[in-house]
Amino acid sequence: MPEQSVDSQLSRRRFLSLTSAAAATLGIAPLAGNATGSFAENSPSSDDYYAKLGVEKIINAAGTYTYLTAACMPPQVQRAVAQAALHPVRLKDLQIASGEYLAKKLRCEAAVVTSGASAALTLATAACVASANGVSPQEIPENVGKMKNEVVVQKAHRYEYDHAMLLCGVRITEVVTLEDYKRALGPNVVMTNFFNSAEGGPDGAQIDRETWLSVAHEHGVPCHNDAAADMPPIENLWKYTGMGFDLVCFSGGKGIRGPQNAGLLLGKKHLIDLAVANNNPNSDAVGRGMKVAKEQLVGMVAAVDWLLEQSDEKNQAEYMRQTEIIVNAVKDVPTMRTRVFMPPIANHVPHLLLTYDPSVVGLTPHQVQGQLRAQKPSIELNPATGSNSRGFPSDENTIVIATWMLQPGEAEIVGRSLKAALTKNRS
Ligand SMILES: *Cc1c(COP(=O)(O)O)cnc(C)c1O
Repeated sequence: MPEQSVDSQLSRRRFLSLTSAAAATLGIAPLAGNATGSFAENSPSSDDYYAKLGVEKIINAAGTYTYLTAACMPPQVQRAVAQAALHPVRLKDLQIASGEYLAKKLRCEAAVVTSGASAALTLATAACVASANGVSPQEIPENVGKMKNEVVVQKAHRYEYDHAMLLCGVRITEVVTLEDYKRALGPNVVMTNFFNSAEGGPDGAQIDRETWLSVAHEHGVPCHNDAAADMPPIENLWKYTGMGFDLVCFSGGKGIRGPQNAGLLLGKKHLIDLAVANNNPNSDAVGRGMKVAKEQLVGMVAAVDWLLEQSDEKNQAEYMRQTEIIVNAVKDVPTMRTRVFMPPIANHVPHLLLTYDPSVVGLTPHQVQGQLRAQKPSIELNPATGSNSRGFPSDENTIVIATWMLQPGEAEIVGRSLKAALTKNRS
């Protein structure tokens, strides 16, 4: 049958040229012949999309700020993410299994990986609305105005993440005194929100964590605690659920050093189940747009595993060592006074405060901040630099630096750059 063999030869040739043309169009190496069946590695330079896109890399001497992409993942977390990228799975299976694994590791009844602490707060709110009203995800937020829909919050705990709750169609009721609080816990209340790091703050928060919790529970109302930035210490990951908070959220990409678009919602099983019901991949749900891809789900779990192998003491000692490198570089600048400040709760790591007289040095902290940002490599100082905002004991004559996001060798660069900026304008 010669015809047939010519035919099959032809189609085989056509197939080969088609696949290589398609591969060329897609810019990928052909899969055939790759023994592992995984995508072939591109050369490192063609993988450098920061370079390709012309996006400048920075030295992060500021801290785990969202606008600076927060933390970098440790190598073992990066490897787990890369491994997860190689195969599809059923998203639900991964969500459930990762939640169960994390609940065990973090000593709570249940857990779900969310697309960040902010998404965790939205899902916590949806869960509490669903629990109080017995409604399905489709009704949130559209019909929430017609049901029990109040969230009680201390006035001093109102913050920029209130939006995450309001997405569910709830209303926020503010309280100041304990009497206000007891009065506010009426039949329409579905949840309370506590801003963990605002406890006992200078802005007049009157009700402490334990009182807040026990009064809510006397009224049968579940409590969410936003502890997004409140690790270290590591034990905080189980401290607040252990105290009895029904739900607690953490950011995955801050101190935990997981993917930036991941976070944790930890707490009571019946509420976590409802949070999951209001989450993707379900489409008709408030959490549909808060998807965590398989890579980030795995990355979040791997980051927790990594973190549980760490020691707070060793990490803090390393942050202090880097802080001292910078202190040594600038301590002889005229009028310079150096202090280390450790915020008691959120971002509980050493922050270096460099206070000096700009009229002697010739440059204000804001000007130094601008110079370091403009130089190569570009350095970002803490945003409290040159002001007394954000809970730091800083002022217009103070530079603020956090060393915990610095990579090896960068403390030396920050020290040298500061020294150069602070000495060059003097005659
Ligand atoms: C950072 C932060 C969040 C948001 O965290 P994401 O993981 O970026 O969504 C929420 N609440 C507080 C108090 C935070 O500090």
